[in-house]
Amino acid sequence: MGLEEKLPAGFVLTTLENVAGYMRKASIWPATFGLACCAIEMMAVGTPDYDIARFGMERFAATPRQADLMIVAGRVSQKMAPVVRQVYDQMANPKWVISMGVCASSGGMFNNYAIVQGVDHIVPVDIYLPGCPPRPEMLLNAIIELHDQIQHSKLGVNRVAAARAAEQAALAAVPTHLMAPTHEHHAPLSGPLSATPGKSLLA
Ligand code: SF4
Repeated sequence: MGLEEKLPAGFVLTTLENVAGYMRKASIWPATFGLACCAIEMMAVGTPDYDIARFGMERFAATPRQADLMIVAGRVSQKMAPVVRQVYDQMANPKWVISMGVCASSGGMFNNYAIVQGVDHIVPVDIYLPGCPPRPEMLLNAIIELHDQIQHSKLGVNRVAAARAAEQAALAAVPTHLMAPTHEHHAPLSGPLSATPGKSLLA
């Protein structure tokens, strides 16, 4: 919130968006923060082989107040969840989150009561990175994607219009249970798209 929210749409706002996007994407500092095995791959991006310093991101901030990127690297236990949220709350705005690996994104193989089934239950996620563990190159690719998102983020009235368009698109989307199956095994067991009578879907 600030002056940017009050600017009317037009040339000035578009120019400001471009400048702010460039400056923000070129000055990201990640929080020093790792939860499990994925964190080893995250640490590898700091080595000369992968060299995260080329993005100016080699300074993993030791305090969340000097960080604006949270890389959730590893499964989030129920006990750790409030700590993750507290770190996020203490980070400077605007801030972004990369969910690194299947465990952080969905609980992964840990389908049990001890692990949060997706860190997006705790904090908003900007990029989901698949893999177990994702390679350091994949994390670098996620960072490049995030840079692209930041560069094209909208401000002020443009942001409101973008949020409205996204909401309309979500409302118009076909619910997953009505989507045409891409494979026989994925067909719903009941409803209008159910399989031919007499044919077992699980065969
Ligand atoms: S995704 Fe794989 S490597 Fe990453 S935390 Fe989970 S088990 Fe470990």
